[in-house]
Amino acid sequence: MTTNGVAEDSEYPPVDQATLRQGLQTVRRRRWYLWLIILVYMPLMMTAMKFFSSVAVAFLCWCIVMVVIVGFSALARCPRCGNYFHMHGLTLLYLRKCLHCQLHVCADKRLDGKQ
Ligand SMILES: [Zn+2]
Repeated sequence: MTTNGVAEDSEYPPVDQATLRQGLQTVRRRRWYLWLIILVYMPLMMTAMKFFSSVAVAFLCWCIVMVVIVGFSALARCPRCGNYFHMHGLTLLYLRKCLHCQLHVCADKRLDGKQ
């Protein structure tokens, strides 16, 4: 039996649905930005090679944007436990569950389906 995605015997207090949804939307949005910047790499480099003699500037710009997006996505906090969703210590893992409380990144959608 779960309450708002939290098992009744969980060490984490129940979170209201709006907070859970807003927090997980932030996590998902930042994950999508990360995927987007990864997918943009090849078309960007091909375009840079076609129009410019060097791709160094485009690569440097891509790297800077990538570092910023990785930083934002890594620092997204879990709405249930308050820890970083994708970071545990210095370990950065982009799994679909919180590395601390195992909250699924789509837990709010699953709750909507049950109601
Ligand atoms: Zn968590």
